[in-house]
Amino acid sequence: MNKLDYITQDVESLKSDGVYRILPINYGACTNIINLNGKQVINLSSNNYLGLANHPRVMTAAKNAIDHYGVGAGSVRTIVGNQDLLETLEDLLAEFKKEEAVMCFQSGLNCNIGTIQAITNKEDLIISDALNHASIIDGVRLSKATKAVYRHNDMQHLEEILQLKRKDYRNVLIITDGVFSMDGDLAPLPDIVALAKKYNCLTYVDDAHGSGVLGKSGRGTIDHFGLHGEIDFIVGTLSKAIGVIGGYVATKKVVKEWLLHRARPLLFSTALPPSATAATIESVKMLMESETYTKKLWENAHYFKNKLIELGFDIGHSATPITPVMIGEDAKTMAFSKALLDEGVFVSGIVFPTVAKDKGRCRVMISASHTKDDLDRAIQAFKKVGKTLNVINV
Ligand SMILES: *Cc1c(COP(=O)(O)O)cnc(C)c1O
Repeated sequence: MNKLDYITQDVESLKSDGVYRILPINYGACTNIINLNGKQVINLSSNNYLGLANHPRVMTAAKNAIDHYGVGAGSVRTIVGNQDLLETLEDLLAEFKKEEAVMCFQSGLNCNIGTIQAITNKEDLIISDALNHASIIDGVRLSKATKAVYRHNDMQHLEEILQLKRKDYRNVLIITDGVFSMDGDLAPLPDIVALAKKYNCLTYVDDAHGSGVLGKSGRGTIDHFGLHGEIDFIVGTLSKAIGVIGGYVATKKVVKEWLLHRARPLLFSTALPPSATAATIESVKMLMESETYTKKLWENAHYFKNKLIELGFDIGHSATPITPVMIGEDAKTMAFSKALLDEGVFVSGIVFPTVAKDKGRCRVMISASHTKDDLDRAIQAFKKVGKTLNVINV
């Protein structure tokens, strides 16, 4: 009898359920073509939407920062980890997002965990969309507030909860993703803002997949809907379209002051490394200078989606470059993903419990770094595998 037998049993049951994971190894940069487990494949599964994760300008900024600042911040921000680069980045992001102030965290997940907990207490109610990201769910769990969940994007359900419960709480915080990562659909932010006004609620939008993608130069879902000044807390990640690592909340100055005193990732975890901060500054500057990157992303996304539709694939109701190719049965979804890999195309299969049972899909993530040739070759692979596995009949 070993003390860790209970974990061994858990791992065994993963294997018998067929959901045991072996990590693929990427031997190089995360770009349009990657070397995955020693094989060159077209990468249709990264969040590096704009190709900035390995853009020469961004890489040079990181290298220069290492020469000047070294590789680690050396401390939490509240002691001596607050390098001037972080202040520069936060001012730049506030300008980019057209908000009063920005507070950066070590990741988007950290930002949600630190912020939701700090801005709510036991007199409050948090109402969260059923399909919100895991980091929001964790942030909500850490809060002392009462919790409620509304059906995905169902404004009638949200209003029912508000009618019933608003009066019992000091503040009510409505939380939603801006872009939902599994289907690529948008939250109905204008309706959420209207309900928040009617019932005097706070609004919190996690725009991890909208930042760098939607709105002018990738300013995000709030910019896309023309709602500047209407959302109280706007979260973004620096790890997806921006191409580096980190997260932030764009909000009012006074919220930033409060977070500095109460957001636990700022108080108890080391600040972002200077190379990452400098690289992020460069990425954001590039977005502010030109719409080239976001335009290329959308051009590629429209091209690829139209080709999939022409072939007869069901690609759901995405409003973004996230393209779920609906397959159905979980086992068939995994078989589809594996057959694509045999054709030299990597697309991750997404199945239960990440999505509902037998709502399996191969989720394509389009990037500005894909060439037309990459996309055409990927389409040929989809056509071949789609026919073989009877997903399409051309
Ligand atoms: C990816 C994601 C995060 C986490 O961001 P990281 O910077 O990778 O930690 C948070 N929220 C949403 C909605 C996401 O899609």
